[in-house]
Amino acid sequence: MDESRSEGAAGQVTQIWDEVLGAIRARVGDRTFDTWFAPLELRAQDDGRLELSVPNRFFQEWFENNYLEEVRATVESVAGHRVEVQLGLADAEPTRVRRPEPEPSVEPTPAPKYRAPSGLHARYRFDSFIKGTSNELAASAAHAVAEDPGQRFNPLFIYGGVGLGKTHLLHGIGHALHARDPSSRIAYISAEHFMNEFVTAVRNNAFDAFRRRYRDDCDCLLVDDIQFIAGKDRTMDEFFHVFNALYESGKQIVITADRVPKDMEGMEARLTSRLNWGLVADVQAPDLETRMAILEQKAERDGLELDRNVARCIAELVDSNVRDLEGALVRVTAFADLRGVPVTESFVREALGSRSASPDAPVTVERIQKAVAGHFRVRISDLKGRRRHQAIARPRMIAMYLARELSGASFPEIGMRFGGRDHSTVISACRRISTICAGDEDMRSTVESLRERLAGH
Ligand code: ADP
Ligand code: MG
Repeated sequence: MDESRSEGAAGQVTQIWDEVLGAIRARVGDRTFDTWFAPLELRAQDDGRLELSVPNRFFQEWFENNYLEEVRATVESVAGHRVEVQLGLADAEPTRVRRPEPEPSVEPTPAPKYRAPSGLHARYRFDSFIKGTSNELAASAAHAVAEDPGQRFNPLFIYGGVGLGKTHLLHGIGHALHARDPSSRIAYISAEHFMNEFVTAVRNNAFDAFRRRYRDDCDCLLVDDIQFIAGKDRTMDEFFHVFNALYESGKQIVITADRVPKDMEGMEARLTSRLNWGLVADVQAPDLETRMAILEQKAERDGLELDRNVARCIAELVDSNVRDLEGALVRVTAFADLRGVPVTESFVREALGSRSASPDAPVTVERIQKAVAGHFRVRISDLKGRRRHQAIARPRMIAMYLARELSGASFPEIGMRFGGRDHSTVISACRRISTICAGDEDMRSTVESLRERLAGH
């Protein structure tokens, strides 16, 4: 009796998994699906838990950074309840399967004794950050701040495009401060989380705890992607008070953003001026030499042999930002591994070059925004902006959905390109559009025709 019951449960989960795969294939397209989802194997399941195996470590890392959230969200919406999704290596014992972290971006610390301050990514430390002319000022200022918090550059404001190392530096400061003085109280928070916590605190009458956390019991405040709170009046106001309280007591404040303070539309003038009080430092796209150094470091860290010419070849082909560069290395390695061939220059050219030559070539997020804005006669700035009117919110969600499907960009990156939204916002937009498409012929054909126009270009 017990047996038939467990068989029933297993069957149910397998069914869920098939349905999940179907939904994902429809969303990401055959090419992405075949590369990243077909190799997954459903290894085990029990109540509310799925265990998947992946072919290798590179695959696992890439998958965790780019698709795991999507799988979790889809499993949950198909199952209709919470299901834990775990990834493990195909040849590992099931007991070695890694449990998912509560916060997807936070990895276990490499050194067993080291405990990073909460929210800090163990890998984002100064010693793994490659300096080059593109980031020299920001990196030196970050070091200076960690040496001498609250003294020289306060606030330190680091800005630049997506994937150029702002978050890495910000976490690096946190680690270095912690190493220097483990008792110093470091608060790292994205501006979006700051807003969410603030709103929740107000709603739950828990404002005292919020205030203690960010004003009284805080020696260093690290805020990522501040552009997010532009236009959010009450949050800006609260942040203004937090800033003043910390600043006046000589506490260090470090802030990142995707642009300089004065270009942040909707940011209060009194806040903008404070953001300029200390040092404003930029990060730029790295030059070839820096890109090669980054690749070589990453290869070494992952225990991967990387020929210098191969590194040069990847660095030449991928010049946009460091995140893409790391992605390219992972992609090349995973492809080679799946096919069982060595990573050579010609293999790199094939693996990365074919990406832009194929009919499935990624369409840029910008082109998608332009096409969607044109179709619905809204402005591109509206797609990136904050207005929630349906005439704008719908096109915005459609654009995010198409960006996910056609551009190959990750959820966090799409969020950044839509005015600095959080990845969870993008995930829920994609889900909304899938759901609407499933039940609404008009929506389906609108999305279909946009997709054809973009992909068939
Ligand atoms: P941003 O916050 O500017 O969008 P991140 O800090 O998230 O960018 O960086 C994206 C990825 O690139 C991370 O994995 C980060 O470790 C890596 N990275 C960026 N710049 C460097 C660098 N100079 N040296 C080593 N890794 C880097
Ligand atoms: Mg960042």
